[in-house]
Amino acid sequence: MNRGIPNRPRNASVGVLVGPHQIGGGAPILVQSMTNTDTEDAEGTAAQVRALAEAGSELVRITVNTPAAAAAVPHIRERLDAMDCAVPLIGDFHYNGHKLLREHPACAEALAKYRINPGNVGFREKRDRQFQTMIEVALEYDRPVRIGVNWGSLDQDLLAELMDQNAALDEPREAQEVMRAALVESALRSAALAEEIGLGRDRIVISCKVSQVQDLVAVYSDLAARADYALHLGLTEAGMGSKGIVASTAALGILLQQGIGDTIRISLTPSPGGDRTQEVVVAQEILQTMGLRAFTPLVTACPGCGRTTSTVFQDLAEKIQSHVRARMPEWRETHVGVEEMQLAVMGCIVNGPGESKHADIGISLPGTNEAPAAPVFIDGKKTVTLRGEGIAKAFQAIVEEYVENKYPRRN
Ligand code: SF4
Repeated sequence: MNRGIPNRPRNASVGVLVGPHQIGGGAPILVQSMTNTDTEDAEGTAAQVRALAEAGSELVRITVNTPAAAAAVPHIRERLDAMDCAVPLIGDFHYNGHKLLREHPACAEALAKYRINPGNVGFREKRDRQFQTMIEVALEYDRPVRIGVNWGSLDQDLLAELMDQNAALDEPREAQEVMRAALVESALRSAALAEEIGLGRDRIVISCKVSQVQDLVAVYSDLAARADYALHLGLTEAGMGSKGIVASTAALGILLQQGIGDTIRISLTPSPGGDRTQEVVVAQEILQTMGLRAFTPLVTACPGCGRTTSTVFQDLAEKIQSHVRARMPEWRETHVGVEEMQLAVMGCIVNGPGESKHADIGISLPGTNEAPAAPVFIDGKKTVTLRGEGIAKAFQAIVEEYVENKYPRRN
């Protein structure tokens, strides 16, 4: 069933090459993530980068905060290459990035992009000099940079300057508005400085991260209106669990729909011992449910109600979603377009057949007091009716056969 991905009004951003990927310039929106391992632990960091990449992260950022971390970066790259994991690494630098990049050329070489936070580059006269050093290294190694401003580390000199200007106005703006303006100004001034030093617009990505939805929407709308740099988008410190997911989705949904954002990251706080790759799954699901990209076949399932008192359809929906996720690494390699497949698992006859017909493969399970039969619909047409204990296995087999027959094998 061909639904097509709708064209969104795209931000006319300048494309930036990062390893094999292009950010912006009309390229598909990329999913980025960040490790939370100690970068000095090359083995642990490489393992987490690989897990994030296998989950679908197309760019992975690692913190580079100490000389030992900078020394570990080339070893992390070597380990990833040995595991056949080509995901580009982005180095996150604060305070001492100018020194680390200068003193560890193998680190500068191993990274595909450098993230610079203009609020954490240095103070007063040192700030521009240290910023310049980082840009010069980027030029030397032909690497792009992300100028990543953050609400929590905003350049205080700039903020004071804008606050003073605001106070002198006849009708001063709210302090919150001045803060938002300072974020955008910090990013744009730093980008202009990078350009003066010689870095092209096609080597610059910008981000201005804040932790509140309305602030993010306002800041990125302003950024997108004022400049054509490629934009990395994300709500910083989004939080834990459903709160982090909901806040990120609300903010990014509004902006992505307007064509704003060329890479995204979901800054979820994992629960202790939780799975870091969840942020990648959420990022993919935002893009896929908005119809902007397709990564993994999604299962549409009804929420259940008083018409279905058993958990059969919930079990089946979960089993099918887990099955396709587990099969995707292989399917992605073997079958063209399989990520766009849509499945439906419905709980009763009310919406079951109708929703199932809209999916590539749908199954309508029997509700309470309905005949114990589950009709299966393929490409909108009723095919078989499943009964009895083995419905889940039989449905999985139907999905396997559909993939084999429907999506051409790669050569
Ligand atoms: S499809 Fe049936 S079981 Fe599912 S929510 Fe609708 S009425 Fe309830």
